[in-house]
Amino acid sequence: MKFDLHCHSTASDGKLTPIQLLEQALEAELELFAITDHDTVAGYDALCQQSELLGQHLTLVSGVEFSTQWSGVGIHIIGLDFDPRHDVLMDFVERQRVVRKDRAFSLDQKLEKLGMPNTLQGALQYCGDLGQIGRPHFAQYLLDQGYVKTTKQAFDRWLGNGKVGDIKAGWPTVEEAVACINAAGGVAVLAHPLRYKMTFSKLRRLMMVFSEVGGAAVEVVGHQSAVDKKQQLIKVVKQLGLAVSGGSDFHDPEWRWSQLGKIEDLPSDLTPIWHLFNRTKLDASIDVSS
Ligand code: AMP
Ligand code: MN
Ligand code: MN
Ligand code: MN
Repeated sequence: MKFDLHCHSTASDGKLTPIQLLEQALEAELELFAITDHDTVAGYDALCQQSELLGQHLTLVSGVEFSTQWSGVGIHIIGLDFDPRHDVLMDFVERQRVVRKDRAFSLDQKLEKLGMPNTLQGALQYCGDLGQIGRPHFAQYLLDQGYVKTTKQAFDRWLGNGKVGDIKAGWPTVEEAVACINAAGGVAVLAHPLRYKMTFSKLRRLMMVFSEVGGAAVEVVGHQSAVDKKQQLIKVVKQLGLAVSGGSDFHDPEWRWSQLGKIEDLPSDLTPIWHLFNRTKLDASIDVSS
């Protein structure tokens, strides 16, 4: 099964439009594909209007990546295979939009105090037509103004985990995000678990909470991590009886380390996430057993 269940379009902080992403997915001969923009389903909606582009060997799944907070850490929860028109889902997306907007104002003020004025106005010019505002748009503005030499530097100095611009207040809990996805008929996936800055025992606690509140699967392929860490992760996934998922977290064709569809196979002894899909009809010609 060729799949990618985690990527971003111009509806959030990706460089390609939803249509361009779909074209890349077709080119990469993906069979199962979801756009998982940050806190919006606008990218998925845009693709649904392009049904003539949906090749018969590519199954499109609804997707989103919700921002949440748990124990002082920003945690991303992917939703897949949900009803994007469900009331609970639509209300939640609207709530996230407001949090994101308020957070952008706070970030603007914090950066102004540090001597960098008008960053919100500047960042807004990098948001796509469908887009909402996020830290990468601020990072791009800080780069273009010459405050930093790379966007990574902007994250390292001000925007990244634990820095002044890492504003988590307002984001919902993991439990709320999982409940929303489940209410809309979907499945919840813990995104890139090895990317959070926490000890492994804290990560295990997060996974237990995620499982207890109704989370379905954990991303175990796609993100670059040491082999021993991945094995440790898979062991906990097994112990908790969770399914497995994966995706490239593609944002930008220039990021060589994260290309659409370029992900390892899922471990064959664990349940692939698509076995839990209720809504998406997988193409009968596709071998979904692995
Ligand atoms: P936000 O959605 O506004 O919270 O921004 C989070 C996004 O910023 C992530 O999805 C990444 O695309 C990007 N990001 C997070 N940390 C870094 C980093 N250290 N360097 C570059 N981009 C980052
Ligand atoms: Mn992103
Ligand atoms: Mn993420
Ligand atoms: Mn992502």
